Amino acid sequence: MLTFRNTAVVYVLLILGLMTYDYSHELSIWYYVVPFVAVSLLVAWGSYFIRSGFFLKAFCDGDKNKSQVAITFDDGPHEQTPLILDVLKKNNAKAAFFCIGKNFRGKEEIVKRIAEEGHLVGNHSFSHSNFFDFFSVKKLLEDVSKTDALILQTIGKKNRLFRPPFGVTTPNISQMVAKNKYLVMGWNVRSYDTSIKDRGKLLHRVLTRMQNGSVILLHDSTPGMDEILQKVLDHAKAKNLNVVSLEEMFAIKAYEPV
Ligand SMILES: [Zn+2]
Repeated sequence: MLTFRNTAVVYVLLILGLMTYDYSHELSIWYYVVPFVAVSLLVAWGSYFIRSGFFLKAFCDGDKNKSQVAITFDDGPHEQTPLILDVLKKNNAKAAFFCIGKNFRGKEEIVKRIAEEGHLVGNHSFSHSNFFDFFSVKKLLEDVSKTDALILQTIGKKNRLFRPPFGVTTPNISQMVAKNKYLVMGWNVRSYDTSIKDRGKLLHRVLTRMQNGSVILLHDSTPGMDEILQKVLDHAKAKNLNVVSLEEMFAIKAYEPV
């Protein structure tokens, strides 16, 4: 089976092969180099695509037989979040907000409002550091624990949901997740709303991919997100797709019982 452990074994064997390679031997060195490069690419792919389930299991795909979609926002709380909440309220839709701990300061009321209006608050790390993927397990635990503490302090709930920054997963992140018994929340519709500047293109990308079981990744911080969200909700309605919470879609509990 394609897992990190099995791949690590192949990796070690290949390295041993390269180390003990007898250069006078007839067997070409490419017999080692080509698989080595292939396995390296595989590991890179496994890290980058959360859906691969390579390093850890993430909830990414809802039931294809149910006309349901889930909407998720990363990187808040943000000054634009209240506008997003207004749209959700107007359309009676529920979403999940994966918040960055360092963004809480001065925006605690926004996080409170997210929870009060029936949306989920999840952990998206404290630092959202570009080096998050290189943190030791200890440093990862320190980082995410700070956000869990802030969530508890702000909304009075013990968080269970984690979404890795940049969606990148590594063996260390996998260990941290196991230690904290997190439910890792992925997605299957990536909007690329932080990089696609053309709103038409962005909407086209999301709307054409929306179907039964879609988990859509958006960001609170994308300019005009409230209007984009309204279009996404209109499309869901037109296609008879119910916008449900991640709890409903995956039959999970986002918080630990008190
Ligand atoms: Zn993020």
